[in-house]
Amino acid sequence: MEVKENFNLKAYNTFAVDVKCKYFVESDKGEDFAEFAKAYDLSRENVLVLGGGSNLLFTEDFDGVVLYPSMRGFRVEDDDDESVRVSVGSGEVWDDFVEWAVEHGYGGVENLSLVPGHVGATPVQNIGAYGVEAGETIKRVEAVDLISGEKVEIGAEDCRFGYRDSIFKHEWRNRFVVTRVTYCLTKRPEFRLDYGNVREEVLKMGEVSLRHVREAITRIREAKLPDVNVLPNAGSFFKNPVVGEREAEALRAKYPELPVYAAKEGGVKLAAGWLIEQAGWKGRAHGHAAVHDKQALVLVNRGGATGIEIARLANEVKKAVFMRFGVVLEPEVNII
Ligand SMILES: Cc1cc2nc3c(=O)[nH]c(=O)nc-3n(C[C@H](O)[C@H](O)[C@H](O)COP(=O)(O)OP(=O)(O)OC[C@H]3O[C@@H](n4cnc5c(N)ncnc54)[C@H](O)[C@@H]3O)c2cc1C
Repeated sequence: MEVKENFNLKAYNTFAVDVKCKYFVESDKGEDFAEFAKAYDLSRENVLVLGGGSNLLFTEDFDGVVLYPSMRGFRVEDDDDESVRVSVGSGEVWDDFVEWAVEHGYGGVENLSLVPGHVGATPVQNIGAYGVEAGETIKRVEAVDLISGEKVEIGAEDCRFGYRDSIFKHEWRNRFVVTRVTYCLTKRPEFRLDYGNVREEVLKMGEVSLRHVREAITRIREAKLPDVNVLPNAGSFFKNPVVGEREAEALRAKYPELPVYAAKEGGVKLAAGWLIEQAGWKGRAHGHAAVHDKQALVLVNRGGATGIEIARLANEVKKAVFMRFGVVLEPEVNII
């Protein structure tokens, strides 16, 4: 276990916000976090589990302990003719796991190619892209309970997966350090291509295969999203708002071009990027922070932005969308 004091987190968050934490604890052993939790009586407000920092906005120095799990390895637990169960260390980069799965011919996560971040965050965030969510393949989560210090195994059915959501963001917020995640992948992939221009991109390459789906999605994402190394950002800053049928109908009557989709959990999902663009914020800056000029859902650090500046910009955007459409945008990014 390595403990660092007054540790700078600029390289540990993709917004590249220059902040420090009081203590930074890195380990690849769950027991270390359990011991640390027992010894320090961590309260939920002064602890933060950090993965790749790609969905966080620090608004100030973090006056507490950042726990940084770095468990590694892909372990095939068992398999049969249809599927395979793979346990993955929470410190692995998610896209490395997707690449591994595709290379081994295992399907289920290829549509989630190039989503940044670590494996440990996938059950917390229930990451999703191009019609697929991580929760569909997650079987089991291994974690350390910071309250009891015990190791626990949590079945997918207890994770309460929803749209970019899980129980780890609510009742269990900051309570568990995820140490490993077990995914169930299929040996007989069923491709999901009916989202955006995925099918078109895949067909350009010839046959429909795991490799081609991964390649197509990689290309689409690289063309669409700003590179965090050039323009620091945290992906979609807001969730696509889900409203009731009636509200959606009223909005469609007024704005027939408003893109809407049926939400998996019921209701109607509105395209937040479109709302932001129509509210006049696409490409607009606020100090060193800006709304990306190609993708209005993404807020970017144009260089030297503080977390507060980015949070203020987000507030302005939220206010403008509400004033224009009466729709409340909720952040997808965790504001710390
Ligand atoms: C350019 C870009 C594109 C993106 N595109 C997508 C996309 O298409 N779909 C999508 O869903 N997301 C997307 N995101 C958001 C981000 O990639 C995901 O939310 C990702 O899962 C965050 O992983 P992370 O390791 O960086 O987590 P962090 O940002 O470090 O943490 C996120 C949350 O998870 C918790 N956490 C992290 N690791 C652990 C752990 N081991 N145990 C317990 N809790 C933990 C943290 O406490 C925090 O609450 C994008 C981000 C960027 C920058």
